[in-house]
Amino acid sequence: MIPHGTLISEVGAEAIEKGFGVPIFGSRKLLNWESDRQLKEKLMKESGIRTPRSFSSPKEINTLAIVKLHGARGGQGYFLADSPTSFQEKKRIMEKKGILKKGTTLYIQEYVVGVPVYLQFFYSPLTRELELLGVERRYETTVDAIGRIPSQMQEGVMPSYVVVGNIPLVLRESLLEEVYRMGEEFVRTAARLVPPGVIGPFCIEGVYDENAEFVAFEFSARIVAGTNLYILGSPYSGLIYEKPLSMGRRIAVEIKNAMRSSSLAKVLT
Ligand code: AMP
Repeated sequence: MIPHGTLISEVGAEAIEKGFGVPIFGSRKLLNWESDRQLKEKLMKESGIRTPRSFSSPKEINTLAIVKLHGARGGQGYFLADSPTSFQEKKRIMEKKGILKKGTTLYIQEYVVGVPVYLQFFYSPLTRELELLGVERRYETTVDAIGRIPSQMQEGVMPSYVVVGNIPLVLRESLLEEVYRMGEEFVRTAARLVPPGVIGPFCIEGVYDENAEFVAFEFSARIVAGTNLYILGSPYSGLIYEKPLSMGRRIAVEIKNAMRSSSLAKVLT
């Protein structure tokens, strides 16, 4: 059992799956898939969502790559490398600065140039409908600050990807069809690979590349911090509900509807 008074963020996905003794809204198993980079990649790939190439060893790096830690870290400790040598150099610098502990398992992924976009969905197992409730982009230091320095003075500045805030975004309308297609495919694939699949909020996270095609580098199988933008609803939730509706309130509505229809088993794990 998890000791009384422990914060959820300190617990970790595995402990939630195995040791959290109360029913929770959402899928515990999917949280585990979220925190394991290989499983995460598998779920996105099998959903037919375009993902960046991943490298199983630093020796394979032959293009610009982003090096990440496992689990949700808000971009903390990430760095870029474009060759096995630059990987070793940057890793050494990060370890020396104390940002990275020696021996940490790292995940290396192709860096996709484009604008980052985070898609906030809600899937209802009761109505079997998918809702897009918000779109955002993250404000990250120092990568979003580098354009503020003249290019001839940028040498030696190492971009970092630490999330400090969220910025609301409305997508070009023609992109929405593909957004829903990806979300629906994700829900179908999660139900097949990790039953019972998605329950409630999830987020697909990626970039739109130079052809305005979406490449997803992450998903979150839960409510994400960026939904805080839309406490009074978003341009997307307004289209569905025509009244202020946050992601938190959407969860509450789902729980109430499940209670009313004696279907709590469909939304709790
Ligand atoms: P994450 O923790 O995976 O959400 O990544 C944090 C930030 O790193 C993202 O918001 C992006 O700015 C950046 N990022 C992560 N993966 C990639 C990638 N494959 N290509 C480009 N940028 C990335």
